[in-house]
Amino acid sequence: MAKKKKLALHWKILLGMLIGVVYGLVAARFEWIQFTDYYIKPWGTIFINLLKLIAMPLILFSLISGIGNLKDISKLSRMGLKTITFYIFTTVVAITIGLVLVNLIDPGDSFPKENQAKFTQMYGDQVKEKQADAHDLENRSPLAFFVDIVPENIIGAAGDNSNMLQLIFFSIFMGIAIVILPEEKTKTVRDFFNGMNEVILKIIDIIMEFAPLGVFALLGSIIVEMKGEAALFKALGLYGLTVVLGLLILIFIFYPLLIKFFTKIKIVDFFKGIAPAQMLAFSTSSSAATLPVTMECCEKNLGASNEVCSFVLPIGATINMDGTSLYQGVAAVFIATAFGMDLNFGQQLTIVLTATLASIGSAAVPGAGIVMLVIVLTAIGVPSEGIALIFAVDRPLDMLRTTVNVTGDSSITAIIDRFEKRKNYIK
Ligand code: ASP
Repeated sequence: MAKKKKLALHWKILLGMLIGVVYGLVAARFEWIQFTDYYIKPWGTIFINLLKLIAMPLILFSLISGIGNLKDISKLSRMGLKTITFYIFTTVVAITIGLVLVNLIDPGDSFPKENQAKFTQMYGDQVKEKQADAHDLENRSPLAFFVDIVPENIIGAAGDNSNMLQLIFFSIFMGIAIVILPEEKTKTVRDFFNGMNEVILKIIDIIMEFAPLGVFALLGSIIVEMKGEAALFKALGLYGLTVVLGLLILIFIFYPLLIKFFTKIKIVDFFKGIAPAQMLAFSTSSSAATLPVTMECCEKNLGASNEVCSFVLPIGATINMDGTSLYQGVAAVFIATAFGMDLNFGQQLTIVLTATLASIGSAAVPGAGIVMLVIVLTAIGVPSEGIALIFAVDRPLDMLRTTVNVTGDSSITAIIDRFEKRKNYIK
Protein backbone atom coordinates (compact mmCIF):
# COMPACT_ATOMS: atom_id res chain seq x y z
CA MET A 1 0.00 0.00 0.00
CA ALA A 2 1.33 3.44 -0.92
CA LYS A 3 2.41 5.52 2.05
CA LYS A 4 0.15 8.51 2.66
CA LYS A 5 2.08 11.75 2.07
CA LYS A 6 2.03 14.01 5.11
CA LEU A 7 0.96 17.60 4.56
CA ALA A 8 3.88 19.99 5.26
CA LEU A 9 3.54 22.01 8.44
CA HIS A 10 3.24 25.39 6.73
CA TRP A 11 0.29 24.14 4.69
CA LYS A 12 -1.39 22.89 7.83
CA ILE A 13 -0.87 26.25 9.50
CA LEU A 14 -2.16 28.07 6.44
CA LEU A 15 -5.23 25.87 6.46
CA GLY A 16 -5.75 26.63 10.15
CA MET A 17 -5.50 30.35 9.37
CA LEU A 18 -7.99 30.14 6.52
CA ILE A 19 -10.52 28.18 8.53
CA GLY A 20 -9.97 30.69 11.36
CA VAL A 21 -10.77 33.63 9.07
CA VAL A 22 -13.87 31.92 7.69
CA TYR A 23 -15.02 30.98 11.17
CA GLY A 24 -14.35 34.54 12.40
CA LEU A 25 -16.43 36.08 9.62
CA VAL A 26 -19.32 33.66 10.18
CA ALA A 27 -19.14 34.04 13.97
CA ALA A 28 -19.08 37.83 13.69
CA ARG A 29 -22.03 37.74 11.30
CA PHE A 30 -24.15 35.51 13.57
CA GLU A 31 -22.82 37.10 16.75
CA TRP A 32 -21.40 33.98 18.34
CA ILE A 33 -19.46 36.27 20.58
CA GLN A 34 -19.73 34.46 23.88
CA PHE A 35 -19.24 31.04 22.29
CA THR A 36 -16.05 32.27 20.62
CA ASP A 37 -14.83 33.83 23.83
CA TYR A 38 -15.54 30.73 25.92
CA TYR A 39 -14.69 27.87 23.59
CA ILE A 40 -12.49 29.09 20.73
CA LYS A 41 -10.24 31.82 22.11
CA PRO A 42 -8.83 29.66 24.97
CA TRP A 43 -7.13 27.35 22.44
CA GLY A 44 -5.31 30.34 21.00
CA THR A 45 -4.29 31.47 24.47
CA ILE A 46 -3.02 27.99 25.33
CA PHE A 47 -0.99 27.94 22.13
CA ILE A 48 0.60 31.35 22.81
CA ASN A 49 1.30 30.32 26.40
CA LEU A 50 3.08 27.18 25.19
CA LEU A 51 5.27 29.25 22.90
CA LYS A 52 6.03 31.75 25.66
CA LEU A 53 6.69 28.92 28.07
CA ILE A 54 9.49 27.60 25.94
CA ALA A 55 11.02 30.99 24.99
CA MET A 56 13.10 31.49 28.15
CA PRO A 57 14.54 27.94 28.36
CA LEU A 58 15.24 28.12 24.65
CA ILE A 59 17.26 31.32 24.93
CA LEU A 60 19.12 30.04 27.97
CA PHE A 61 20.12 26.64 26.63
CA SER A 62 20.66 27.48 23.00
CA LEU A 63 22.73 30.60 23.67
CA ILE A 64 24.89 28.94 26.30
CA SER A 65 25.44 25.87 24.16
CA GLY A 66 25.95 27.98 21.01
CA ILE A 67 28.57 30.24 22.58
CA GLY A 68 30.02 27.48 24.77
CA ASN A 69 30.89 25.51 21.65
CA LEU A 70 32.87 28.37 20.10
CA LYS A 71 36.60 27.91 19.85
CA ASP A 72 37.46 31.46 20.85
CA ILE A 73 35.77 34.66 21.93
CA SER A 74 36.94 36.81 19.01
CA LYS A 75 34.29 35.14 16.86
CA LEU A 76 31.59 36.33 19.23
CA SER A 77 32.63 39.98 19.08
CA ARG A 78 32.97 39.77 15.29
CA MET A 79 29.50 38.29 15.00
CA GLY A 80 28.10 40.82 17.49
CA LEU A 81 29.42 43.83 15.62
CA LYS A 82 28.10 42.62 12.27
CA THR A 83 24.72 41.74 13.72
CA ILE A 84 24.21 45.14 15.33
CA THR A 85 25.43 46.96 12.19
CA PHE A 86 22.98 45.07 9.99
CA TYR A 87 20.14 45.53 12.43
CA ILE A 88 20.61 49.29 12.56
CA PHE A 89 21.06 49.50 8.78
CA THR A 90 17.79 47.64 8.03
CA THR A 91 15.90 49.69 10.61
CA VAL A 92 17.02 53.00 9.11
CA VAL A 93 16.17 51.78 5.59
CA ALA A 94 12.71 50.71 6.82
CA ILE A 95 11.93 54.10 8.38
CA THR A 96 13.20 55.89 5.30
CA ILE A 97 10.91 53.82 3.04
CA GLY A 98 8.02 54.62 5.39
CA LEU A 99 8.77 58.34 5.33
CA VAL A 100 9.14 58.49 1.55
CA LEU A 101 5.81 56.70 1.08
CA VAL A 102 3.87 58.74 3.60
CA ASN A 103 5.18 61.98 2.05
CA LEU A 104 4.23 60.81 -1.43
CA ILE A 105 0.80 59.37 -0.62
CA ASP A 106 0.00 61.89 2.13
CA PRO A 107 -2.87 59.95 3.76
CA GLY A 108 -3.23 62.52 6.56
CA ASP A 109 -4.38 65.15 4.12
CA SER A 110 -7.48 63.21 3.11
CA PHE A 111 -8.37 62.14 6.64
CA PRO A 112 -11.91 63.42 7.32
CA LYS A 113 -11.62 66.08 10.02
CA GLU A 114 -14.97 65.13 11.57
CA ASN A 115 -13.50 61.73 12.39
CA GLN A 116 -10.79 63.32 14.49
CA ALA A 117 -13.09 64.22 17.38
CA LYS A 118 -14.92 60.92 17.11
CA PHE A 119 -11.76 58.84 17.36
CA THR A 120 -10.26 60.96 20.11
CA GLN A 121 -13.39 60.43 22.18
CA MET A 122 -13.68 56.72 21.41
CA TYR A 123 -10.13 55.81 22.26
CA GLY A 124 -9.55 58.36 25.02
CA ASP A 125 -9.02 55.79 27.80
CA GLN A 126 -6.68 53.60 25.80
CA VAL A 127 -4.70 56.65 24.76
CA LYS A 128 -4.21 57.64 28.42
CA GLU A 129 -2.97 54.15 29.24
CA LYS A 130 -0.40 54.17 26.45
CA GLN A 131 0.67 57.72 27.33
CA ALA A 132 1.26 56.66 30.92
CA ASP A 133 3.37 53.69 29.77
CA ALA A 134 5.38 55.95 27.51
CA HIS A 135 5.78 58.55 30.27
CA ASP A 136 7.33 55.93 32.56
CA LEU A 137 9.79 55.07 29.82
CA GLU A 138 10.65 58.66 29.00
CA ASN A 139 11.55 59.91 32.46
CA ARG A 140 14.63 57.77 32.69
CA SER A 141 18.35 58.16 32.30
CA PRO A 142 19.62 57.63 28.76
CA LEU A 143 21.73 54.84 30.24
CA ALA A 144 18.67 53.10 31.65
CA PHE A 145 18.68 50.74 28.67
CA PHE A 146 22.04 49.34 29.75
CA VAL A 147 21.05 49.22 33.42
CA ASP A 148 17.98 47.22 32.39
CA ILE A 149 20.05 44.63 30.60
CA VAL A 150 22.01 43.63 33.69
CA PRO A 151 19.84 41.55 36.02
CA GLU A 152 20.40 41.51 39.76
CA ASN A 153 18.89 38.07 40.06
CA ILE A 154 18.82 35.39 37.41
CA ILE A 155 15.69 33.65 38.67
CA GLY A 156 13.92 37.01 38.67
CA ALA A 157 15.15 37.72 35.13
CA ALA A 158 13.97 34.34 33.88
CA GLY A 159 10.68 34.76 35.70
CA ASP A 160 9.36 37.49 33.47
CA ASN A 161 9.21 37.13 29.71
CA SER A 162 9.67 40.85 29.22
CA ASN A 163 13.20 40.53 30.63
CA MET A 164 14.49 38.75 27.58
CA LEU A 165 17.58 40.94 27.20
CA GLN A 166 18.56 40.18 30.79
CA LEU A 167 18.49 36.48 30.13
CA ILE A 168 20.44 36.98 26.91
CA PHE A 169 23.04 38.93 28.89
CA PHE A 170 23.39 36.19 31.49
CA SER A 171 23.57 33.43 28.87
CA ILE A 172 26.27 35.23 26.87
CA PHE A 173 28.19 35.80 30.09
CA MET A 174 28.01 32.13 31.01
CA GLY A 175 28.87 31.03 27.46
CA ILE A 176 31.96 33.26 27.51
CA ALA A 177 33.10 31.77 30.82
CA ILE A 178 32.77 28.28 29.36
CA VAL A 179 34.89 29.23 26.35
CA ILE A 180 37.61 30.83 28.47
CA LEU A 181 38.01 27.81 30.75
CA PRO A 182 40.15 24.85 29.60
CA GLU A 183 38.07 22.34 27.64
CA GLU A 184 38.52 19.41 29.99
CA LYS A 185 37.01 21.38 32.87
CA THR A 186 33.82 22.27 31.03
CA LYS A 187 33.05 19.04 29.19
CA THR A 188 30.22 17.98 31.49
CA VAL A 189 28.66 21.45 31.49
CA ARG A 190 28.83 21.68 27.69
CA ASP A 191 27.34 18.23 27.26
CA PHE A 192 24.53 19.17 29.60
CA PHE A 193 23.66 22.37 27.74
CA ASN A 194 23.96 20.70 24.34
CA GLY A 195 21.67 17.90 25.47
CA MET A 196 19.13 20.26 26.99
CA ASN A 197 19.17 22.27 23.77
CA GLU A 198 18.12 19.15 21.87
CA VAL A 199 15.34 18.50 24.37
CA ILE A 200 13.97 22.03 24.01
CA LEU A 201 14.00 21.76 20.21
CA LYS A 202 11.99 18.56 20.48
CA ILE A 203 9.46 20.26 22.75
CA ILE A 204 9.06 22.99 20.09
CA ASP A 205 8.40 20.30 17.48
CA ILE A 206 5.65 18.91 19.66
CA ILE A 207 4.14 22.35 20.31
CA MET A 208 4.11 23.00 16.56
CA GLU A 209 1.83 20.03 16.02
CA PHE A 210 -0.70 22.13 17.84
CA ALA A 211 -0.05 25.22 15.66
CA PRO A 212 -2.87 24.77 13.11
CA LEU A 213 -5.47 24.65 15.89
CA GLY A 214 -3.75 27.52 17.70
CA VAL A 215 -3.75 29.89 14.72
CA PHE A 216 -7.33 28.93 13.87
CA ALA A 217 -8.43 29.98 17.36
CA LEU A 218 -6.32 33.13 17.38
CA LEU A 219 -7.49 34.46 14.03
CA GLY A 220 -11.11 33.39 14.58
CA SER A 221 -11.37 35.27 17.85
CA ILE A 222 -9.46 38.35 16.63
CA ILE A 223 -11.92 38.78 13.76
CA VAL A 224 -14.90 38.51 16.10
CA GLU A 225 -13.33 41.10 18.40
CA MET A 226 -12.59 43.51 15.54
CA LYS A 227 -16.03 43.27 14.02
CA GLY A 228 -17.47 46.54 15.33
CA GLU A 229 -14.56 48.48 13.95
CA ALA A 230 -15.05 47.59 10.30
CA ALA A 231 -16.61 50.95 9.51
CA LEU A 232 -13.64 52.81 10.92
CA PHE A 233 -11.30 50.88 8.65
CA LYS A 234 -12.58 52.84 5.68
CA ALA A 235 -11.73 56.20 7.16
CA LEU A 236 -8.24 54.95 7.75
CA GLY A 237 -7.93 53.13 4.46
CA LEU A 238 -5.24 55.28 2.89
CA TYR A 239 -3.13 55.31 6.04
CA GLY A 240 -3.41 51.52 6.39
CA LEU A 241 -2.56 51.07 2.73
CA THR A 242 0.55 53.22 3.07
CA VAL A 243 1.82 51.11 5.97
CA VAL A 244 0.94 47.88 4.14
CA LEU A 245 2.66 49.06 0.97
CA GLY A 246 5.83 49.85 2.91
CA LEU A 247 5.76 46.49 4.66
CA LEU A 248 5.28 44.70 1.33
CA ILE A 249 8.26 46.56 -0.14
CA LEU A 250 10.37 45.34 2.78
CA ILE A 251 9.22 41.73 2.47
CA PHE A 252 9.18 41.37 -1.30
CA ILE A 253 11.93 43.73 -2.44
CA PHE A 254 14.32 44.76 0.32
CA TYR A 255 14.93 41.44 2.11
CA PRO A 256 15.08 39.38 -1.11
CA LEU A 257 17.74 41.83 -2.37
CA LEU A 258 19.74 41.35 0.81
CA ILE A 259 19.38 37.57 0.58
CA LYS A 260 20.43 37.63 -3.07
CA PHE A 261 23.46 39.83 -2.46
CA PHE A 262 24.77 38.34 0.73
CA THR A 263 23.78 34.67 0.76
CA LYS A 264 23.56 31.69 -1.52
CA ILE A 265 19.99 30.85 -0.56
CA LYS A 266 17.39 30.93 -3.32
CA ILE A 267 14.65 33.46 -2.62
CA VAL A 268 11.95 30.80 -2.99
CA ASP A 269 13.73 28.52 -0.53
CA PHE A 270 14.12 31.42 1.87
CA PHE A 271 10.40 32.15 1.89
CA LYS A 272 9.46 28.47 2.04
CA GLY A 273 11.85 27.98 4.91
CA ILE A 274 10.57 30.77 7.10
CA ALA A 275 6.88 30.48 6.16
CA PRO A 276 5.83 28.79 9.44
CA ALA A 277 7.50 31.57 11.45
CA GLN A 278 5.87 34.27 9.31
CA MET A 279 2.44 32.73 9.74
CA LEU A 280 2.86 32.47 13.48
CA ALA A 281 4.09 36.04 13.69
CA PHE A 282 0.97 37.10 11.80
CA SER A 283 -1.33 35.09 14.06
CA THR A 284 0.28 35.98 17.40
CA SER A 285 1.46 39.59 16.75
CA SER A 286 4.46 38.83 18.89
CA SER A 287 8.01 38.25 17.69
CA ALA A 288 8.90 36.99 21.17
CA ALA A 289 6.25 34.27 21.08
CA THR A 290 7.33 33.37 17.56
CA LEU A 291 11.03 33.16 18.48
CA PRO A 292 11.18 29.38 19.11
CA VAL A 293 9.74 28.70 15.66
CA THR A 294 11.90 31.34 13.95
CA MET A 295 14.95 29.64 15.41
CA GLU A 296 13.84 26.25 14.25
CA CYS A 297 13.05 27.49 10.73
CA CYS A 298 16.41 29.25 10.35
CA GLU A 299 18.33 26.26 11.60
CA LYS A 300 16.47 23.42 9.97
CA ASN A 301 15.19 25.01 6.78
CA LEU A 302 17.75 27.70 5.98
CA GLY A 303 20.65 25.63 7.26
CA ALA A 304 22.03 28.37 9.53
CA SER A 305 24.30 27.13 12.30
CA ASN A 306 23.02 26.78 15.84
CA GLU A 307 25.59 29.25 17.19
CA VAL A 308 24.51 31.97 14.75
CA CYS A 309 20.77 31.36 15.22
CA SER A 310 20.98 31.26 18.98
CA PHE A 311 22.90 34.54 19.05
CA VAL A 312 21.37 36.61 16.24
CA LEU A 313 17.68 35.70 16.59
CA PRO A 314 16.93 36.31 20.29
CA ILE A 315 18.72 39.67 20.06
CA GLY A 316 16.84 40.44 16.84
CA ALA A 317 13.48 39.58 18.36
CA THR A 318 14.08 42.15 21.05
CA ILE A 319 15.87 44.97 19.26
CA ASN A 320 15.38 44.63 15.51
CA MET A 321 11.91 45.67 14.43
CA ASP A 322 11.92 46.96 10.88
CA GLY A 323 8.17 46.64 10.44
CA THR A 324 7.51 48.52 13.66
CA SER A 325 9.87 51.35 12.77
CA LEU A 326 8.42 51.75 9.28
CA TYR A 327 4.96 51.94 10.81
CA GLN A 328 6.12 54.52 13.37
CA GLY A 329 7.46 56.74 10.62
CA VAL A 330 4.23 56.56 8.61
CA ALA A 331 1.99 56.95 11.66
CA ALA A 332 3.91 59.96 13.00
CA VAL A 333 3.62 61.89 9.74
CA PHE A 334 0.01 60.80 9.23
CA ILE A 335 -1.05 62.03 12.67
CA ALA A 336 0.86 65.30 12.29
CA THR A 337 -0.77 66.02 8.92
CA ALA A 338 -4.21 65.03 10.18
CA PHE A 339 -3.71 67.63 12.92
CA GLY A 340 -2.83 70.18 10.26
CA MET A 341 0.90 70.28 11.04
CA ASP A 342 3.55 70.16 8.36
CA LEU A 343 6.73 68.44 9.40
CA ASN A 344 9.98 69.97 8.19
CA PHE A 345 13.11 68.05 7.20
CA GLY A 346 14.64 68.34 10.68
CA GLN A 347 11.55 66.89 12.28
CA GLN A 348 11.50 64.01 9.84
CA LEU A 349 15.15 63.36 10.63
CA THR A 350 14.20 63.30 14.30
CA ILE A 351 11.62 60.65 13.40
CA VAL A 352 14.37 58.49 11.87
CA LEU A 353 16.44 58.82 15.02
CA THR A 354 13.72 58.35 17.61
CA ALA A 355 11.94 55.62 15.68
CA THR A 356 15.22 53.69 15.43
CA LEU A 357 15.70 53.95 19.17
CA ALA A 358 12.01 53.34 19.82
CA SER A 359 11.95 50.16 17.78
CA ILE A 360 14.98 48.93 19.72
CA GLY A 361 13.14 49.72 22.94
CA SER A 362 9.82 48.20 21.86
CA ALA A 363 8.97 44.96 23.57
CA ALA A 364 8.30 42.09 21.18
CA VAL A 365 4.66 41.78 22.20
CA PRO A 366 1.34 42.81 20.64
CA GLY A 367 0.76 46.55 20.56
CA ALA A 368 4.20 47.52 21.84
CA GLY A 369 4.83 49.68 18.78
CA ILE A 370 2.04 52.10 19.60
CA VAL A 371 3.46 52.83 23.07
CA MET A 372 6.78 53.77 21.55
CA LEU A 373 4.98 55.86 18.95
CA VAL A 374 3.94 58.17 21.79
CA ILE A 375 7.64 58.87 22.38
CA VAL A 376 8.28 59.53 18.68
CA LEU A 377 5.34 61.96 18.57
CA THR A 378 6.51 63.80 21.68
CA ALA A 379 9.99 64.15 20.18
CA ILE A 380 8.65 65.98 17.14
CA GLY A 381 6.14 68.06 19.07
CA VAL A 382 2.96 66.37 17.83
CA PRO A 383 0.20 65.85 20.44
CA SER A 384 0.39 62.22 21.50
CA GLU A 385 -3.43 62.04 21.78
CA GLY A 386 -3.07 61.58 18.04
CA ILE A 387 -2.62 57.85 18.50
CA ALA A 388 -6.40 57.73 18.97
CA LEU A 389 -6.70 58.25 15.22
CA ILE A 390 -4.96 55.01 14.38
CA PHE A 391 -6.11 52.67 17.15
CA ALA A 392 -8.88 51.14 15.09
CA VAL A 393 -6.53 49.60 12.57
CA ASP A 394 -3.62 48.93 14.86
CA ARG A 395 -4.19 45.22 15.38
CA PRO A 396 -4.20 44.15 11.72
CA LEU A 397 -1.18 46.37 11.08
CA ASP A 398 0.51 44.89 14.15
CA MET A 399 0.01 41.42 12.67
CA LEU A 400 1.68 42.50 9.45
CA ARG A 401 4.53 44.46 11.00
CA THR A 402 5.34 41.53 13.31
CA THR A 403 5.58 39.30 10.21
CA VAL A 404 8.04 41.82 8.77
CA ASN A 405 10.00 41.97 12.04
CA VAL A 406 10.44 38.21 12.00
CA THR A 407 11.36 38.17 8.30
CA GLY A 408 14.00 40.84 8.95
CA ASP A 409 15.55 38.87 11.81
CA SER A 410 15.64 35.73 9.66
CA SER A 411 17.28 37.56 6.74
CA ILE A 412 20.05 38.95 8.92
CA THR A 413 20.55 35.51 10.45
CA ALA A 414 21.03 34.01 6.99
CA ILE A 415 23.49 36.78 6.13
CA ILE A 416 25.57 36.51 9.31
CA ASP A 417 25.61 32.73 8.90
CA ARG A 418 26.97 33.13 5.39
CA PHE A 419 29.68 35.53 6.61
CA GLU A 420 30.71 33.09 9.33
CA LYS A 421 30.83 30.12 6.97
CA ARG A 422 32.84 32.05 4.42
CA LYS A 423 35.31 33.04 7.11
CA ASN A 424 35.69 29.39 8.12
CA TYR A 425 36.28 28.22 4.58
CA ILE A 426 38.93 30.84 3.94
CA LYS A 427 40.80 29.82 7.07
N1 ASP B 1 4.07 43.24 17.91
C1 ASP B 1 5.35 43.64 17.43
C2 ASP B 1 6.36 42.53 17.63
O1 ASP B 1 6.23 41.74 18.55
C3 ASP B 1 5.82 44.91 18.08
C4 ASP B 1 4.93 46.04 17.65
O2 ASP B 1 5.19 46.62 16.59
O3 ASP B 1 3.94 46.33 18.32
O4 ASP B 1 7.28 42.38 16.87
